Amino acid sequence: MEKNNTSSQNLYVSEEEKILNWEDVQGAFKKTFGSEVYSSWLQKITLIKEYNDFLILGVPTRFFRDWIVSRYLDKILEQLRGFKLSINRIEFKIIEENKQNQELLKINEISKVTEIKDSILNYNRLNPNLNFSNFIQGKSNDIALSYSKKVCEHVSRYNPLYICGGVGLGKTHLLNAIGLELQSENNVMFISAERFMYHFIKSIKKNDMVNFKDFFRKSSIFIIDDIQFISGKESLQEEFFHTFNSLIDKGSQIIISADRAPTKLDRVQERIKSRLGGGLVVDIDSPDIELKIKIIKKKIDEIQNQFKENINLNEDVISYIASESKTNIRELIGVLNRVIAFSRVHNKVLTVIDCKNILKDVFNQIRVITVDKIQNVVSNYFNIALSDMLSQRRSRPLARPRQIAMYLSKKMTTRSLPEIGRRFANRDHTTVIHAVKTISRLSEQDDEMKKNINQIKSLLQEQ
Ligand code: ADP
Ligand code: MG
Repeated sequence: MEKNNTSSQNLYVSEEEKILNWEDVQGAFKKTFGSEVYSSWLQKITLIKEYNDFLILGVPTRFFRDWIVSRYLDKILEQLRGFKLSINRIEFKIIEENKQNQELLKINEISKVTEIKDSILNYNRLNPNLNFSNFIQGKSNDIALSYSKKVCEHVSRYNPLYICGGVGLGKTHLLNAIGLELQSENNVMFISAERFMYHFIKSIKKNDMVNFKDFFRKSSIFIIDDIQFISGKESLQEEFFHTFNSLIDKGSQIIISADRAPTKLDRVQERIKSRLGGGLVVDIDSPDIELKIKIIKKKIDEIQNQFKENINLNEDVISYIASESKTNIRELIGVLNRVIAFSRVHNKVLTVIDCKNILKDVFNQIRVITVDKIQNVVSNYFNIALSDMLSQRRSRPLARPRQIAMYLSKKMTTRSLPEIGRRFANRDHTTVIHAVKTISRLSEQDDEMKKNINQIKSLLQEQ
């Protein structure tokens, strides 16, 4: 049952990561595009699925899609990024009008089921788009890639396989590719350490540890992403240690990713570190320019095939994007999508100067704004101590700034809701969701709030 469940669900984004309220988005479309354009075109777009960094939108016809893409895509993307900064791509799905309702019904049903069941299975999803064939090899990831493939050929020879490297360098992609490769013949479990903890705590609360243990221990391939998350969490480490040992004992293959080497993990028990490093440790480095260029070209190919359109970016522009995007591959792809969206809308062959202009904001935004910075700016702005703003006190003069800071963290950084919650003195992600909703609503209704938010935003941009 575990195996089959992964087939059609191609996302690895937890339910609570979802943040877009489509009605709000439609409201923004109406304002931006005017009611005429809105009612003829944008109103008919539906939200089919929300992923961390892209959306699938439903449109009634192919013609409709082409019209929207050629005229409004860049603006639509811009609006959507106003709601959720991490979105960098939109895909359209053509759904005939009468089917559209059915499709929506189906989706609602699925999400209802997910909410009710909220079972571990629903999160054990592999993304079919992150596979070996679209993982580009370069000097920085060569070794990690080749051992990931070897693990698929000789299960349990390198056990555990531990892949480490900085953010956005392809760890999750590789883990996912291994899972896809092995899932037809094995019982694959793919989970982030954060999710593992979520289920662990839930099982403790429900007094259901037996099921929890059984569930994880019966997998023959256990893939756990971002293990650094167990840092400082003693009871979680304990549970993980037992799961780990019992899996190894019965010959299951374990594959782990982390942002650093086992020896460098903070606040993790020594015996666990030594277990983690006891198989094979491989790392992924930052990409060199060659790899970045290869990735850009591959992405262009993919998009051309998918949308059946010609994307005309010359070598200079490609090199410019590759050399400017310095941090990681995730950012590189985001930047590329933005350039492509722009060239589509303006239907022209872009020059390096055009790109510079398009990307000015992106490079600034992505690099500079962090949750820490937002917290500092917001607490200064309201003249309260940062420690008070993060404290558990609930008086409005503290609670509102806190909510504003959470809201801005969601809008202006690519951090997930649980990550933001943690940075606000370990609050739950639902608190963050509540803050985002409250402030979104207030900033529509209340002029004072709107003004505050705008001023804080511009303070943040200036920094
Ligand atoms: P990490 O888990 O290390 O933070 P991800 O695996 O999420 O990074 O990678 C970030 C993005 O970059 C994903 O969209 C992934 O598909 C893409 N990516 C990373 N490395 C490569 C590569 N070598 N070839 C193609 N795409 C890549
Ligand atoms: Mg990852």
